[in-house]
Formats: sequence, C-alpha cells, structure tokens
Amino acid sequence: MVNLQDIKKARKEINGLIHETPILVSELLNEQADRQIYLKSEHLQKTGSFKIRGAANAVIKAEREGARFVTAASSGNHGQAVAYIAGKLGIPAIIVVPEDANRVKVAAIEAYGGRIEYCGFTSADRIPRAKQLAKDNSGVYIPPYDHPDIIAGQGTVGLEILEQLPDIDVIVVPVGGGGLISGILTAVKTIKPQVKIIGVEPEAGNDTFLSLESGKITAVAGSSSIADGLRTSQPGDLTFPILKQYIDGIVLVTEEEIKYAMQFVIERTKQLIEPSAAVAVAAVLSGKAGEGNQKIGVVLSGGNIDLLELQNCLPS
Ligand SMILES: *Cc1c(COP(=O)(O)O)cnc(C)c1O
Repeated sequence: MVNLQDIKKARKEINGLIHETPILVSELLNEQADRQIYLKSEHLQKTGSFKIRGAANAVIKAEREGARFVTAASSGNHGQAVAYIAGKLGIPAIIVVPEDANRVKVAAIEAYGGRIEYCGFTSADRIPRAKQLAKDNSGVYIPPYDHPDIIAGQGTVGLEILEQLPDIDVIVVPVGGGGLISGILTAVKTIKPQVKIIGVEPEAGNDTFLSLESGKITAVAGSSSIADGLRTSQPGDLTFPILKQYIDGIVLVTEEEIKYAMQFVIERTKQLIEPSAAVAVAAVLSGKAGEGNQKIGVVLSGGNIDLLELQNCLPS
C-alpha cells in the first residue's frame, strides 16, 4: 500500500514540473455557505487539473526504467496530463481516445505533443488497446488512478494543503476512481489523523458510496452526470482499501446542485472550474459537508471545460 514516504518522494520527483497551487478565499462563498472555505485551486494547475501530479510521478518512473514511450486511454484530463509530461521528458505519448472524442480535448492533447489513436466508444475498448500498444513496443501504459505511482502523486495535494492551512479541520474532495482522495487520505491521515476527509460523488454515479456501504467494490452502470471526470463505474482495487480504512464520509450531490455550484463559482469568484470540481463546492453550499465553525478545504480539482458546453453545465 502507498505510504507517506512514497508521497514525499513523489513530491521531490515532480517538483519543478508542477505548480504549488494557491488557496483562494471568497467572502461571498463563505456567506452563502455559512462556512469558512479554502479553495485548493488545482484548476490553476498545469494542464488545468491535479492529474498532472500522478501522471508526472508515473511517467518519470517509467522513463527512468527504460520506457521508450507511454500510452494512456483517456480523452480527458489524464490524457492531457500524460501527453504534457511525456513531451516535457522528451518521450512520445500515444493517447487512445473514443471515436466520438470531443474535438477541443483532442486538440489539447495534440497541442501538448501527444499522438492520438481512435478506438471504439467505451473504456472497455480503449484500455486493452492502450495496454497492447505499450506491450508490443517497449512502452508503458499509465492508468488514471489505480496505480501506486499515481496515488502517490495525487497525495502531494494533501501535503500542500497541510502546509498552506496548518489548522484545517475538514477537506472535501471529488471522487471518481478514487486516486485523488486516496492519495490525500494517505498523506493527511498519517500526518494529522484528526483532520476529517469527506468524499463527494454525483448521485448519478454513486459507485464509491455504494461500495463503502456494502464494504466491497460495487459497480454501477455508466454514469450520465455532467461531472465527466467522475463517470467511473467503480472504485479501484488499490484505491478502495485506502478509502475503506480512512474516509470519514461520502456525500452525494444532485445534477442541479452541481450546476448551481458551477454558476456560483464562475459568477461570484470569477474562477473557471469544471463540473467535476464543482461537486465539492456543491457539497458545502448544500450544507452536506462541514459545519459553520470548521475550517474547510475544498479541492477545486480542475478547470477544463469546452466553452461551447458551458451552458449545459449551468442551471436552466
Ligand atoms: C480525474 C478527476 C477527478 C477524480 O479523480 P479520481 O482520482 O479519479 O478520483 C476529479 N476532478 C477532476 C477535474 C478530474 O479530472
């Protein structure tokens, strides 16, 4: 299992390739939520999401161990992060995306130097293809969350929060496959176990909630949530045991609550976030996470959104 030393090592490895992102405070948000909220601003991270942390840690290691190139199966933030970091390290990246991938996202991957390969429509098509490409040609497949190097990289968010906000009481984190929250849990619960960590999922995509309730990994059918970074069907084999051991709770938010949070953050704080980040804001705005007398860290996990789709992510 990933431990604090792995996360500290990851931090040294990726230092210089990523930003230490700022903590933003909005009086309007605090008033509206009746809470003291500190926004850990990974939407201002390189490539627009925290995914670069895990990707950098994993790709650096793969390259050091002799990988001639890397592959990933994601048209989203993970694909962009792997393409960017491979470009920085001077090795090729092949990113396998669905036939109907969003053109803006494909363009972003290509702009970072990634080579696009189209394959099928589901991750069940793409992942085997990306793994096969790597295996045939001395490359390494980089998974999005269920890998020790990825979890350790994402855990560096937790180290930064503890340094930036030494008296934080609660940290609220969006949950997809669970790489981000399991890294934060490992770092924070080792250094400061009294800090509460709450995960947030869309109601439409509550696989981690159901898995924690039943005590075993439980899959849901494909999610249709606007939070497209959280549409994983089940938590990972490596991430789930970490969640089970440490997490203080998981709350669910509705699509309307996510849209309201999107609008509030964009209009009031002028920060452009994506729906997968807005779920964490929705959890505090709806009163489902944290209490008025606590200092609450909210992880704004990313800010990549196709502006043509923004309208669909706001209240109607
Ligand atoms: C990937 C992603 C998440 C979820 O992270 P997991 O490690 O899969 O739980 C949340 N927000 C954004 C913006 C993401 O890209």
